[in-house]
Amino acid sequence: MRLSRYFLPVSKDVPADAAIISHQLMLRTGMVRQNGAGIYTWLPLGFRVLQKIEQIVREEMDRAGAIEMLMPTIQQAELWQESGRYDDYGKEMLRITDRHEREMLFGPTNEELITDVFRSYVKSYKALPLNLYHTQWKFRDEIRPRFGVMRGREFLMKDAYSFDLTEEAARASYNKMFCAYLNTFDRLGLTAIPMQADTGPIGGDLSHEFIILAETGESAVFCDKALLDLPAPGLDLDFEADLSGEVEKRTGYYAATEEMHDEAAFADVPADRQVSARGIEVGHIFFFGTKYSKAMNATVQTADGDTVPVQMGSYGIGVSRLVGGIIEACHDESGIVWPQSIAPFEVGLISMRPKDETVAKVADEAYEALKAAGVDVLYDETDERPGPKFNRMDLIGLPWQIVIGPRGIENGVVELKNRKSGEKSEVTLETAIETVKAG
Ligand code: ATP
Ligand code: MG
Repeated sequence: MRLSRYFLPVSKDVPADAAIISHQLMLRTGMVRQNGAGIYTWLPLGFRVLQKIEQIVREEMDRAGAIEMLMPTIQQAELWQESGRYDDYGKEMLRITDRHEREMLFGPTNEELITDVFRSYVKSYKALPLNLYHTQWKFRDEIRPRFGVMRGREFLMKDAYSFDLTEEAARASYNKMFCAYLNTFDRLGLTAIPMQADTGPIGGDLSHEFIILAETGESAVFCDKALLDLPAPGLDLDFEADLSGEVEKRTGYYAATEEMHDEAAFADVPADRQVSARGIEVGHIFFFGTKYSKAMNATVQTADGDTVPVQMGSYGIGVSRLVGGIIEACHDESGIVWPQSIAPFEVGLISMRPKDETVAKVADEAYEALKAAGVDVLYDETDERPGPKFNRMDLIGLPWQIVIGPRGIENGVVELKNRKSGEKSEVTLETAIETVKAG
């Protein structure tokens, strides 16, 4: 993409109403524009990141055997009346009336809808286990939308729903999602710590929030430092195998949010491993058994011919929240420092003197070579001074910069800069491309 043709409304001003760094940087880099409280337009740069995150989440859901579909944003009230949540949900639910005075709502989540899909088509245990997911906009009329996309009212969530015959099978489905989440966050360049969450009236230990540590996190969290050093299960994980060992490896260490914190248990963690920090919830997985299937009569026939309510779980990831969350974890004083897996472009190519014919020609050739090598490149061939060009490139945080100038051309090299380490080297264009591709 040529910067002169792109839509990148970068701004120098620090927006007064943005309280945290990720929100400031998203506004300054022209990633989003606020439309109303907690409602954002995703401008081109931000939308690229959002899509990259969605794609990684999708790949890891698919790898774990979940099946993608798409449910609507606007739902009929009837299903929610059936489950009993139409009244329980309260003011967070945006209620809508259509021209026929029919009660509708903008979905804050999809348990009812998916349960209805399930009961309409699945009748036998033979179709189980089943895991269906979608990535769709949700609306929750949050009392305090804040921190930009991190606590929005309209936000993008991936939500998966598992269906199993028995509680034991449901636990296996839960473990798959647990491991898939660790791999997903790892690919996003994050260390997300699973923390036991409150399961409410259902009880049991099958609910975890996945938390990334950040000073601006909304909740206080406590955990064993050992958890930060555990590698993700890995992309070669066999999802058909018994994954309880992988899960136990992590749940064996202390990790809790404020609500679940137990001072006495935390005191048992060796002092030099006690981490007390703040965290951002980027995912939440939950086993809720027959809560919806009983209320909505979603049953299956067992091998013995009995009819039983299906066992369900739900698994959410805050896709749009992650954009802000990742910036909270990945920035420095000059701007954003994107992990390469989700960077809007992998390389910023800077032409130092676009008006110099030789420089322009070499830079154009480098642009074509990068594209031909399958590298996502943003090519700054604008006629601005080098200083502001470098600053802008640092601000938007592409992982690599390649600079083309007269001196390098004389020596047959380009300048390659790693945004994260700041390290610069003079290498041939071929070496630069190889380095970028190696990540
Ligand atoms: P929170 O405790 O932060 O309000 P929640 O527990 O209500 O979140 P879930 O119902 O568990 O949220 O939703 C799954 C995921 O969706 C969360 O882990 C979070 O990443 C994301 N999410 C929830 N609410 C919002 C929001 N208002 N804005 C952006 N993302 C959100
Ligand atoms: Mg939650």
